[in-house]
Parts: sequence; C-alpha cells; structure tokens
Amino acid sequence: MLMQTLQPDQPHIVFLFSDTGGGHRSAAEAIIEALELQFPGQTTYEMVDLFREYAPPPLNKTPEIYPPLSRMPAAWGFGYRQTNTPRRSRNINNIAWPYIRRSIYRLMEEHPCDLMVSVHPLMNTPVLRTFRDRRIPFITVVTDMVSTHAFWFDNRADLIIVPTEGARQNGIQFGISPEKIQVIGLPVADKFCHEQEAPNDIRKKMGWPLDKPVILMVGGGEGMGPLEKTAHAINDANLDVALVIIAGRNRELKNRLENHLWNIPVSVYGFVRTMPEFMQASNVLVTKAGPGTISEACICGLPIILYSKMPGQEDGNVDFVVNEGAGVWAPEPEHVVSTLQSWLAAPELRWQAAANCRRIARPQAARDIAAALAARVGITRPE
Ligand code: UDP
Repeated sequence: MLMQTLQPDQPHIVFLFSDTGGGHRSAAEAIIEALELQFPGQTTYEMVDLFREYAPPPLNKTPEIYPPLSRMPAAWGFGYRQTNTPRRSRNINNIAWPYIRRSIYRLMEEHPCDLMVSVHPLMNTPVLRTFRDRRIPFITVVTDMVSTHAFWFDNRADLIIVPTEGARQNGIQFGISPEKIQVIGLPVADKFCHEQEAPNDIRKKMGWPLDKPVILMVGGGEGMGPLEKTAHAINDANLDVALVIIAGRNRELKNRLENHLWNIPVSVYGFVRTMPEFMQASNVLVTKAGPGTISEACICGLPIILYSKMPGQEDGNVDFVVNEGAGVWAPEPEHVVSTLQSWLAAPELRWQAAANCRRIARPQAARDIAAALAARVGITRPE
C-alpha cells in the first residue's frame, strides 16, 4: 500500500487498484504524480490493492491467478462475453456480496477519505453498495480503452472518466447518465510526455546498437501473448534490426529468452521501471493490445504492431489503433515479420503511423484527471 502521512487539514484521496496486469497501477500512479505536479503538497493519498489487502481467500490471490488465466484466451473471452451486460454483472455482484461484504466494510472503516477513486472494474459496485450508509464522492477512472466491460459502470459513481468516445457510448448503452461520463483520456506517467535524454544517449547507456532500428517487444506487465514465438520469427527472418524484449513479471519467459542463441542483437529484461526511456529510444513497438502500453506508445510517437489481445476486453483497442492508422493488427508471427519487412523497406509507412500515434495521443490526460479530482475535493492550483 502506497501511503502518505495523513494531514488533518488536507483532503485525503484513496485510490482502489489491483496488480491484475500492469495497467491499473500505472494509471493510479500517473494520476498521483499529476496531482503532485499541479497541486504540490495539497492532498494526501493512498493506493489500496483491494484484492491483496482485503478480499477473502481465494479472491485475495486474484493478482496471482490473473496471469495464468489470461493465458487461456478462449476461456477468458467466453467469461468476458457471458458477464458483459448490466444485468449479469449486477447478478454476479449480488452473489459475491454476502461473501465480500465484511471485507468491504472493513476497507471503508480503515481508509476514511474525502474522495475515493477506482481504477479497477471489479471495485466499483461492491464499494458503492456501502455508500448507502455514508457519503463521500466516488470517481471511476476507466483504464480500458474502448471495449469497456459492464463492471466499470455503476450509476452511483459521481463521475466516470473514460479514455475514448467509444467507451463513453458504451457506458451510456449500459445505462449511465450521459452527464456523468467525461472523455478525458487514459492517464499516463509524465515522463512519457517529455524526452529526458536523446534516444542515442539512452541506447548507449543500455548497450543497444546505434546503427539498427530497435524493435521493442512488450506483453503487458505479465509478459503475455506469443512474445517468444514472435521474437523467434523475427530472429529467424534475419531482419536487420535489434530486438529489445521486456518479459515483465514472467520470469520463466525471461530465462528462456536469455538462454536462447540469437542471430541478431537481442536484449532481454524483466519488469522495467523506466518504460518511457525504452519507448523513447525505440523505433517500433510490438505489443499485446494493452490500453496502457498503447496510450504510452502514442505519446512517444512509436508505431505499433499488435501481436495479441485479450478477447473481449482488448478487441476495441485493436480496432482503435488500426482505424486511426497508428499501427497494424498482426496476430501471427509471420504477419509481424512481413509488417516489419515492409516498414524497413518503406520507412515512410512507419513515419506515417508514428504521426498518427501522436495525433491520437492524450498527453494531458493525467493532468486533466488530476484537475477533476482536485475540483471534487475543493483544492485549487497555487498562484
Ligand atoms: N509496464 C512496466 N514495466 C514492464 C512492463 C509493463 O512499467 O516491464 C507497464 C506499461 O508501461 C504499462 C503497464 O505496465 O503502463 C501495462 O499496462 P497495459 O494496460 O498495457 O497492460 P496490462 O498489463 O494491464 O494487461
């Protein structure tokens, strides 16, 4: 739990998140950073991993269960579709309520605050149920891009902030009053928005080649999707590129990648804390269709090849990237290779995709969301 010392005269904000993937934590941290940049020292805050810290067993293991579950795309997609209506998601919450009720009330007792912000779909309805008894403002910041599950939307929230117009339309279809949903963007850390160092200086520091395009490969926080197969296909095609592969928290994948004999320059990493540098020093991103990673790449003007998606949840992300011309959907390793070949042969195609990334980027999102939260707790910018 990330926590600042409570100051009685400052509004206190609690962020509900969980490490199911990397995106929820990144979003909460980006908003907190933006609050500190714009309203320094004016709020205190905590990040609470509701699953790890409060859910009864086995739900407290959700962050550990999520990676293996997400590696079963057919089952994931089935579960997503079966639950994705307001009625079904309400029924699931009703069934879970007797089991989780005490934990949620304990959360409310132990974390008094002036504003609660949820960046996780599964935390909205259970927490809002307790608001019959007490009333503090509750804001949902949706961290899926377009295909936003019914779990995100509960009309008892005071404000629901979404990244795209598609997500807003989704919320309205799920019965949310239009005036409650605001399109601001997906919050992204400030370092993505400013180049701290020249790309070549970063490459020198990292020991990456300076004379080849750098292809950055990421599978979200958990190293998901056919990352390994795709890296082998690029290697076997002997493309004149350097590969930088981030395996995230997937240690086995990292070990296998490190022990492989590569034909081309390859650098392998586990979970990295300096993703802005990795993106700013690369030429192309090959990634699963995670909303956080896509939003960060757009800000960095890094053209995107999407090699996998979580069915249901990330379908809309693929359409969004492809329709905006920011990247390509390449679900087979050969397709990734042929896209790279065409982008190497005609770099103007890659530059056009990079320009489209910048066009759809929302670098202001974290700051605008921070301003919306600040307005709710009545703080203003220092003169
Ligand atoms: N990330 C990171 N270090 C890593 C791998 C991922 O900081 O080694 C971050 C990445 O920059 C992004 C988030 O984790 O902010 C992944 O979020 P996304 O929504 O793309 O996918 P998820 O992991 O939530 O499915």
